[in-house]
Amino acid sequence: MTEQTRFQLNETDLPKFWYNIYADSPVAPTPVLHPGTMEPVTPDFLSVLFPMDLILQEISSERYIEIPEEVREIYKLYRPTPLLRARRLEKALGTTAHIYYKYEGVSPSGSHKPNTAIPQAYYNKVAGTKAMTTETGAGQWGSSLAFACNVFGIDLEVYMVKVSYHQKPYRRNLMETYGARVYASPTDLTNYGRSVLAENPGNLGSLGIAISEAVEAAATSNGTKKYGLGSVLNHVLLHQTVIGEEALKQMDMADEYPDVVIGCVGGGSNFAGIAYPFLRENLKNGKRARLVGVEPTATPTLTKGVYTFDYGDTAKMAPIVKMHTLGHDFMPPGIHAGGLRYHGMAPSISGLVDAGLIDAVAVKQKETFEAAIQFAKAEGIVPAPESAHAVRVAIDEALDAKAKGEKRVILFNLSGHGNFDMAAYESYLSGKLEDYEYPAEAVKESMSKLPQVNLPA
Ligand SMILES: *Cc1c(COP(=O)(O)O)cnc(C)c1O
Repeated sequence: MTEQTRFQLNETDLPKFWYNIYADSPVAPTPVLHPGTMEPVTPDFLSVLFPMDLILQEISSERYIEIPEEVREIYKLYRPTPLLRARRLEKALGTTAHIYYKYEGVSPSGSHKPNTAIPQAYYNKVAGTKAMTTETGAGQWGSSLAFACNVFGIDLEVYMVKVSYHQKPYRRNLMETYGARVYASPTDLTNYGRSVLAENPGNLGSLGIAISEAVEAAATSNGTKKYGLGSVLNHVLLHQTVIGEEALKQMDMADEYPDVVIGCVGGGSNFAGIAYPFLRENLKNGKRARLVGVEPTATPTLTKGVYTFDYGDTAKMAPIVKMHTLGHDFMPPGIHAGGLRYHGMAPSISGLVDAGLIDAVAVKQKETFEAAIQFAKAEGIVPAPESAHAVRVAIDEALDAKAKGEKRVILFNLSGHGNFDMAAYESYLSGKLEDYEYPAEAVKESMSKLPQVNLPA
């Protein structure tokens, strides 16, 4: 057994293809419906928002999609990312388990999100797009797309959830450093933003509202602006599979194979990124890794949400998809894992959870920060509050293996660092953080507002 801690691939090992789960998934893709007509959307409708290359990836059933050379060139600024064995954490826990983590925090914006921001900006550039719009919650996605748009010379406007705009000025400053313009959503720049403010001038915003504003800004721009989304969509999850493809090679270098693969889930992209290549090995090559998505009890989309057709945004302008949802009018409590506050979930993950091929668990805020601090003390890296949910379950798995005297190989995705999120740590350390469980009754109430879709059986 090697004593190696860090498993680092060479530039030449950078994946040449993204992996499309729909080529192998036993769960067929579900239709995407127009929010007005409730009929399946046409590429025409989507082409108002996205360039054709991304639309084709969205509906592709091809197993492997080639990563353009221009995208791989930019990936090389931070990829391949390292995989580490958390030896010091193992020792601190006194566990018989082996814990590995893939570290995506080495990217320019400090998370996995540039993995899709770079190709999204690239395909827009190729299609002649001069300007893009997007939304951001905690600021991770906005800063990633700001970086990528700057690389490819595209102008970017970001609708940032108002509460984060004020609480996270440094993320906003980072977006501005890359040249983006940032607005506190709800704004008075869109019809939808104005209607929200007319109803309640004090509205602090939500991801659903910010998406509606960014979509409206692109949809009403007479084709001058396109829109980019940082999670949920098939093409986003596709781009993230570079994480799992690299991790497969790195686990091989370590001469081990994971019994369990863990990631936090907001819209599902970093989890799919690490898990789907391992799911392929389960489905095609007889491997049996358990795949576990972790969410907060405050936004329990997979564990308490309903698997049904719902709108992707609050204003009902984004397409309707079949997914686990808490309801498109979900107003999240002010928890400290902003990137995990979306009301829905990637349709492919929802389908795979429903089919029992992926597990989901929810963890509380305080135990999550406790795990994050244990990890930081042992391994040095301060996890992003989102990533800390995966850390919590990785530690729980290691303690369970210890109790059972098992050697269990655990792999989790450390989706980002928390260096911009110290306010959240401050809340935890000063005892101000509260646990919160989103009530089942609230989900039930929202379900009365679902779109009434009639699909041929
Ligand atoms: C945005 C974000 C997430 C959640 O988004 P997914 O699409 O579920 O991956 C998780 N971790 C970090 C660090 C993020 O920035």
